[in-house]
Amino acid sequence: HETEGAGADALDWDKGDGLLPAIVQDARTLRVLMLGYMDRAAFEATVATRRVTFFSRSKGRLWTKGESSGHFLELVSLEADCDHDALLVLAHPRGPTCHLQRDSCFPSAPGAGLAELSALVAQRHRDMPEGSYTSRLFEGGTRRMAQKVGEEGVETALAGVAEDDDALLGEAADLVFHLLVLLRARGLGLEDVEAKLASRRR
Ligand code: AMP
Ligand code: ZN
Ligand code: ZN
Ligand code: ZN
Repeated sequence: HETEGAGADALDWDKGDGLLPAIVQDARTLRVLMLGYMDRAAFEATVATRRVTFFSRSKGRLWTKGESSGHFLELVSLEADCDHDALLVLAHPRGPTCHLQRDSCFPSAPGAGLAELSALVAQRHRDMPEGSYTSRLFEGGTRRMAQKVGEEGVETALAGVAEDDDALLGEAADLVFHLLVLLRARGLGLEDVEAKLASRRR
């Protein structure tokens, strides 16, 4: 990687009193896990040990995330931003990253749960586990899935003109789930829908 290869000298350490903010994302899901600060020594320790290490402003020393909890962040990649004064770290978390035992120090971003459901649907399609409703839908064929999408679409529309928000949410959830199943059966996924949406953005 460019930033790793170029080393600490390629970074702008002067702007933030020798500390650069480092955003850590889960390398698999791209969920933002935490924000920390790295000084030159923390950067070098991270690259050398492949375990994400910060300069802790509260502890006043180098801090390898997970040093007491065991919940290390195993380094996958490290990149600087455009003007080399911020870092983006991709890592595999060995456990909950937040000391409150949550996966992330930040609330889940909108859409993150959808991506997880989409991945689960793809996994069901691959493995077709016995007794899974999703597997049964795949076995039922595309016409049946399309019919389910139609039914849930109509139910969502009907709920959309009634007063009950909870009923609308329930139907919307049914619709999204069955839509993901139909897309997957056609070899498509949420990322393809996103690409289509992006192509329409202006
Ligand atoms: P750990 O590095 O996971 O062994 O945690 C050691 C200590 O660092 C914890 O007791 C907290 O005080 C602090 N800590 C752990 N995780 C975080 C985090 N994600 N953000 C800020 N402080 C943390
Ligand atoms: Zn910058
Ligand atoms: Zn936290
Ligand atoms: Zn329904």
